[in-house]
Formats: sequence, structure tokens, C-alpha cells
Amino acid sequence: APFSSLNLKVELLDNLKTMGYESMTPIQAQSLPAILNGEDVIGQGKTGSGKTAAFGLGLLNKLDVKRFRIQTLVLCPTRELADQVAKEIRTLARGIHNIKVLTLCGGVPMGPQIGSLEHGAHIIVGTPGRIIDHLDRGRLDLENVHTLVLDEADRMLEMGFQVELEGIMERMPIERQTLLFSATFPEQIQSIADKIMFKPVMVKV
Ligand code: AMP
Repeated sequence: APFSSLNLKVELLDNLKTMGYESMTPIQAQSLPAILNGEDVIGQGKTGSGKTAAFGLGLLNKLDVKRFRIQTLVLCPTRELADQVAKEIRTLARGIHNIKVLTLCGGVPMGPQIGSLEHGAHIIVGTPGRIIDHLDRGRLDLENVHTLVLDEADRMLEMGFQVELEGIMERMPIERQTLLFSATFPEQIQSIADKIMFKPVMVKV
């Protein structure tokens, strides 16, 4: 199916054409209608499935760029993935002016991150440990977040980020959209989903 069949902002649709994205991948075709409808979605799909554009288009479509607040948080297991996701979101967002995407990952110096946080952002992409660190030091405010994405949730749990994830969840609004992507679906993911999601739509490709 073509992206034009979706209710996407014209800036996003025009840019998808420029990017050469013509038709949706299966995970996009199955998840985007629910994502754009504001529903919670669990997507079972690996890297290469097009999951990043699925949630990226969803969060960008909903974002109000005039409101300079952190509206979206994307959590990733590693810095490499966070950098890749932030890059894809920036590319998808090329038609939306003045949008700020900030990455906050461990293993990089704190100083520049603190400076960037002071300047503000619309979207944060990061790893759970560093996000908790900034929250604990009062440098990060998630009170205006309306969309939370957990990318490669199975890997985050494997890496032992469960406590950090719960801590982050406690500091953002309960009324939000939560999108969870995972390559595998162990029991632990189901129990997290039960806690943090509301009537999720399940998509498997
Ligand atoms: P991902 O699974 O998110 O890592 O995406 C895999 C690759 O597919 C990335 O390089 C994307 O740029 C690309 N991609 C995602 N969706 C589409 C699409 N609808 N058409 C063409 N390429 C896509």
C-alpha cells in the first residue's frame, strides 16, 4: 500500500517521496493505521523490517513543533541503535522545520548533553541508564511526553534495564501512547506490556 493512503501530514508525505519510500513495508502497513489512530501498539519485527519508520512517522505526525517541550521519548538498548534511530527520525522529519532531536546515551561525556538539554528538544532518543541519570539530577523533565517508544525491548531486558525502564515510566504521564517493538516475545515482555500499555494492538510480521 502507498503511504498516501495514510492520514499523514503533507510535509511527511512529500519527504517520503524525496526519500524514495514508495510503498509501506508489511510492519508499516500493519502498524501505522493503529499508531496514527493513537493506539498502543506492540510490533514484533526485526531490524530491516522498517520498524523505525513505522514509529518515526507516528511520532512525527503527532508532534507539535511549535510547542518546544520534550513530547516523545524513544528508548533503545545501545548507543549504536539510538544513533541510527535518531538519524532516521531526522531524515523523516526533513520537511518539518526547526524540529530538535536529541540523543542521550551512556558512554559519552555528560557536559555536552547537559548543554543540549538546557537548549531544549522535541524528541529524545537514548539509552535507559543515561536517561535515568539525567532524571535523577533534575536535568530532564518528561512531564509533557505524549509518546513513548521502546525499541528492541527484548534486548533492553536482556541487558538488565528493567529497573531503569520502570523508573523512567514512573516519571512520565500515564496518559500517553506507548509503542513497543521487539524481535522476540518472551514472557517478560508480556508482563511489562501488561503494566505499561493500554489495550495494545499486536502486529507480527
Ligand atoms: P529498520 O527496520 O527500521 O532498521 O529499516 C530498515 C531499512 O529500510 C532502513 O534503511 C530504512 O531506511 C529502509 N526503509 C524503511 N521503510 C522503507 C520503505 N517503506 N521503503 C523503502 N525503504 C524503507
